[in-house]
Amino acid sequence: MRIVLYADNTIPVALEPLSNLLTRTCASAEFVVGAETFHLGSAVTCPATHRSLSKKLKAEVAKHDLAILCTAVPYENNFFFEADGHLVIISFAGWHLLTRLPISNGIAYFVASIIADIGGIGSTHDENTGCLNDFFWDKAGIDVAMRAAFVCADCAGRFEGDPDVLESVRRLLDLVSSASRQEKDILSVTARTPEPTRFDVFLCHNSQDKPAVRDINTKLKSSGVRTWLDEEQLPLGTPWQPELENRISDVSAACVFVGASGLGPWQNAEIRGFLSEFMARACPVIPVLLPNAPAVPDLPIFLRQMTWLDLRQEPERGLGRLVEALKHPPLPVPTSTSTKPDEPAHTRSRESSSRLTERGLKKK
Ligand SMILES: [Zn+2]
Repeated sequence: MRIVLYADNTIPVALEPLSNLLTRTCASAEFVVGAETFHLGSAVTCPATHRSLSKKLKAEVAKHDLAILCTAVPYENNFFFEADGHLVIISFAGWHLLTRLPISNGIAYFVASIIADIGGIGSTHDENTGCLNDFFWDKAGIDVAMRAAFVCADCAGRFEGDPDVLESVRRLLDLVSSASRQEKDILSVTARTPEPTRFDVFLCHNSQDKPAVRDINTKLKSSGVRTWLDEEQLPLGTPWQPELENRISDVSAACVFVGASGLGPWQNAEIRGFLSEFMARACPVIPVLLPNAPAVPDLPIFLRQMTWLDLRQEPERGLGRLVEALKHPPLPVPTSTSTKPDEPAHTRSRESSSRLTERGLKKK
């Protein structure tokens, strides 16, 4: 998706670095800054204002999948943004009365909201939940929303678009919330510390099982788990062993898939790497029996000590447990090993807390 950004002279925002940051953050979208300018008059109405823009600007907009115009000119109905087709105008009128957070954080938050809408996130929450998909009846809720910045499980489950798009939305929200909680501009935070990609789970598998593992990878990603799968993360044309070793040393957990073909030669080497990591930093290693695994799988002796997950029966339920385990890993307990088979790989160490008990709503 190619997205073109504009801002008029009513708001102070550095669009070029913001556009670069958004492109780096969103795997599924590329952002550019438009060359044309626009003037909106004293108030915005949709679709009249959107359709009154200059032909030159509309011609430039037509070359992109989505255009986002940012302004401090208010909407007549006091909304934050409205869309006419794929042309969206976001109004930051009275922004400093709603929040102390910078407009660039707001742009990134609304971009996440717009991308989620296009992907089909369903109708908005009427009540205040803190989810990206809330409707801000009270616009002051935007301050808490940028600090919380998440997509609830219901909305994520309803999302009809590509899982990579939802992942991009989540990455944008992580960026907004981590900067906003520090009362900082997303541009200043990321300029100093480029965000390294942390993966929740390394998918260790025999290449013979690739189709089944791809299917599981898709389902994990759509549930918000950041997966490392060789064919997606290994850069083409670069030596793959150093990258593999780096991932083994910093991934949060590993799944070792066992199917009809047993363990592959490289899979064994990876497992040995994870085992030493497991001992050193309590990295969970979860053996997963694929639906086609034999009745008596041939697991290496050290893997037999790990709590394993059986997808041979009720695979959907098993995957649900896996998602919970990966998204809510237990606090590290360096010496713990569990030997009881077929129990939840890890119990949740914390419940998803509802962090917003008071909050108005808002948006379109
Ligand atoms: Zn929601």
